[in-house]
Amino acid sequence: MARRDGARRIGLLGGTFNPVHIGHLRGALEVSELLDLDELRLIPSARPPHREAPQVTAEQRLAMARLAVAGEPRLTVDDRELRRDKPSFTFDTLASLRDELAADDQLFLLLGWDAFCGLPTWHRWQELLGHCHILVLQRPDADSEPSEALRDLLAARSVTDPRSLSGPSGQISFIWQAPLAVSATQIRQLLAQGRSVRFLLPDAVLAYIHAHDLYRATTVS
Ligand code: ATP
Repeated sequence: MARRDGARRIGLLGGTFNPVHIGHLRGALEVSELLDLDELRLIPSARPPHREAPQVTAEQRLAMARLAVAGEPRLTVDDRELRRDKPSFTFDTLASLRDELAADDQLFLLLGWDAFCGLPTWHRWQELLGHCHILVLQRPDADSEPSEALRDLLAARSVTDPRSLSGPSGQISFIWQAPLAVSATQIRQLLAQGRSVRFLLPDAVLAYIHAHDLYRATTVS
């Protein structure tokens, strides 16, 4: 494993986590084990106010994420995007993380293949690799096509074995992962229909949803 002496290895998984579910958690845990990360942070994103489901606030999404990872030391929750008053660019999130870390700490940004293919539309995308490595989670059914600019980037920066990513930032690698067939959309829909979502998310998150009466028919976005 390409670990520098004393350097920490930190994975980052952004998302709305509305709500967090076992697809997120298993995927994160598997990456964390494969790469022997010190920590994998779930980073809930702020949503534009008009897209926030009326009765599910950012604070509630955050509370559910925290409940989900409680007792699992490999996974943590980072609330920096919710502490800002508007949605953050990934570049800014990475820059703010970098300000807090040692120069040789390794950051690994997890992105699904589809998100990776959309990278050229992101704010300051060509500078992202100055702050982190990118781990692309490849799935068997992915069908997006990378642009020429991305193909060039891959040719210049990709490393075959994700465990050999070295240094604090700058390289790209792929992890093949068959995702669990769970989505937050499916969970919101089931709850809106009054159906059970047991076993699709941790029991503590389910208890929170019920205690706060979240995702009832009128709250689904
Ligand atoms: P929604 O259904 O509301 O779009 P979602 O379930 O896809 O939500 P997000 O919060 O958008 O969840 O996902 C955050 C990250 O987790 C994304 O990178 C996404 O690719 C990944 N992810 C989502 N679902 C799964 C899953 N079942 N297995 C592995 N990774 C997942």
